[in-house]
Amino acid sequence: MSTREIPLVLVADDDLVMRATMAAVLEESGYAVIVAEDGVEALAIAMARLPDLIVLDLVMPGLDGFEVCQRLRADRATMETPILVLTGIEDTIAIRRAFEIGATDFATKPLSAPLLSHRVRFMLRSVDAVRELRDSESRLADAQRLARLGNWEWEIESGTLVASREALALLGLADRPSASPLLDFRNVIAAEDLPLAETQRAAVVAGGNSLDFTCRIATADARPLHVHLLGQVVDGPVGAVRRMAGTVQDVTERTRAEDRIKTLAYYDTLTGLPNRLHFSERTRAAIALARRNGSRIALLLVDLDNFKGINDTLGHAVGDSVLREVGARLRDVVREYDTVGREGDRDGFLPVSRLGGDEFLIAIGELESGAEAASVAARVLDVLRVPLTVESKELFVGASIGISVYPDDGADFEEIFKHADIALYHAKSVGGNTSEFFDASMNEAAMYRLLIETSLRRSLERQEMTVHYQPQVDVVTGQISGVEALIRWSHPDIGSVSPATFIPLAERIGMIAPLTEFVMHRACAQMREWQSLGAQDLRIAINLSAQLFRQRDVLQHLSDIPASYGVHPTSVEFEITETTLLENPADAGAILSMLRGRGFRIALDDFGMGYSSLSHLRQFSLDTLKIDRSFISDLVSGTRELEIVGALISLAHKLGIEPLAEGIENVAQRDLLLDRGCRMMQGYLVGRPLPPEQLTARLVAGEFQA
Ligand code: C2E
Ligand code: MG
Ligand code: MG
Repeated sequence: MSTREIPLVLVADDDLVMRATMAAVLEESGYAVIVAEDGVEALAIAMARLPDLIVLDLVMPGLDGFEVCQRLRADRATMETPILVLTGIEDTIAIRRAFEIGATDFATKPLSAPLLSHRVRFMLRSVDAVRELRDSESRLADAQRLARLGNWEWEIESGTLVASREALALLGLADRPSASPLLDFRNVIAAEDLPLAETQRAAVVAGGNSLDFTCRIATADARPLHVHLLGQVVDGPVGAVRRMAGTVQDVTERTRAEDRIKTLAYYDTLTGLPNRLHFSERTRAAIALARRNGSRIALLLVDLDNFKGINDTLGHAVGDSVLREVGARLRDVVREYDTVGREGDRDGFLPVSRLGGDEFLIAIGELESGAEAASVAARVLDVLRVPLTVESKELFVGASIGISVYPDDGADFEEIFKHADIALYHAKSVGGNTSEFFDASMNEAAMYRLLIETSLRRSLERQEMTVHYQPQVDVVTGQISGVEALIRWSHPDIGSVSPATFIPLAERIGMIAPLTEFVMHRACAQMREWQSLGAQDLRIAINLSAQLFRQRDVLQHLSDIPASYGVHPTSVEFEITETTLLENPADAGAILSMLRGRGFRIALDDFGMGYSSLSHLRQFSLDTLKIDRSFISDLVSGTRELEIVGALISLAHKLGIEPLAEGIENVAQRDLLLDRGCRMMQGYLVGRPLPPEQLTARLVAGEFQA
């Protein structure tokens, strides 16, 4: 379409007078005019100049007006050019025919000059209006396409839907005409959301005056399309709504983002299981329901037995795979049972959650008795006993489970959870791979543990820790060749607490490094004093917990302490247990070599208590072998124990390791061992652990090798 400032009008008439008159009138009215004498010329000029309007005489020689009109309409360029045809008076047949082939308007001859110029003006104006309307419609359509937003009108009774192109596309009706009877909207909305849509529709029919909901559209492809429908009644009184109008917008992206946020907030990203928050919300709700129904709910707290080892030795990627697989197995077990979520069936919530680390939590609802919880626990232990294959390695995880039941073991989620945790602690402490029900006596033990744990954290700053020293005596010379530093804790309320109790707790709460550092400083300062009293060859033995072998920098730091007191590393012996070697096989050798390389001595403590592998004696370079008290206490002349201990002693001698017998309480034990070639002894017979002043007194009395 032209955008000329002065509209160009083509006047085609074979009558010279008519032609000249019309041209003059139109020029006078402000138009540019071109003329044609016949149909052929009219057609040629129209095609070449694309006038804004054509005045066309129907009766012309050669190509008549009808023919010209028809051809103009057939061409894209002139398809919409307004054409005013001129007919004889009351030639109704010609008028009808002209309209049929596309004339815009007609005027009869003879024709008055003012009438012609008005006609032309009106025709041009209406062309502009149409063009503007079309432009604005296409702008609106563009905007709708960009916003993925369409508008619609709905004739409720007939079900007719008039919708914009975009609305039709969004509703999956792109191939339908823009106004069509939408007989059944069940073909449009996805089956899952039909109930929601039905409710909304029913509300409108019953007199509501708006629609506002998000639903999925039934699309042919698998990708779900989410749309937001907004509608308002535009016609009809309340209760008798006839028409609604509204919009439909694609909100798939937004819905997806919202889903993602929900997933992050409610699910564990590693296993895809509900997270702690989600799980506890649901379980709280289930407990509230159980309270009204008088039913029972059990919580199973599952903790993997070997996870830490796997994670530390095989790396986090393997650890993650293990957790994922465990999550999947637990999910399967839980799915087999009818559980807390009866409502769970509706949205797929399964009451199994990862709390973080290697801890999982399961809820079982509508329990008849505890036996059901026990059978789920047994099933969980079973499925976790089956080895996992990760990166073509077979891994054994195993688990411990603590079980606690609402309302028997607690009045709310917090209490039930706390008690499941206490029961879990018990399951662990009997060796793992088992489940335990909570019982009240556990609570007392747990309270005690808690008290100890909290006060343990402050014990150092409150100066409740001291170090006692137990002599290690060469029973041939009767002299003290070494002393073992043993930590002592005097609790202000409960008195003295055994290291056998608090050392494992200290490991659990990350206190073992500061405690060992404390012992190291005390013992070295004490050694400095004893050496200044003349005990130059006295050795001090320090216990190192297995956990320190996973903290190389701490060990490094600890081994720097003696020098700062002027105590030579050769006067210091580190005691480690076989468990330490077993738990850190890769590192232990390297660390022992490092310590020995710096001049420290190494003793293998408690030998014979657990694993007692002779291969360790060969594999690791050791200075002292401490034969465990449990061995010694069974010694009776002629028994198998004696034979074993005898063999051990001679093996140690052959390997250049000094045997030392622990827990010597009587003369018989002493003599038997001495007889087998073990002269180094530690035990109540030769000396109890003593506070430093008392040990000093014994040394001053000359009981040391000068
Ligand atoms: P351990 O290293 O085997 O220490 C020897 C334990 O046996 C000490 O118990 C000692 O008092 C006890 N004992 C010595 N002679 C006899 C005897 O003739 N008969 C009997 N029945 N017992 C005897 P304690 O001091 O209660 O220490 C227990 C354990 O706590 C130690 O076993 C050691 O594993 C740990 N421990 C003690 N102090 C420390 C420390 O400073 N650091 C670390 N990591 N562990 C320590
Ligand atoms: Mg020891
Ligand atoms: Mg020992």
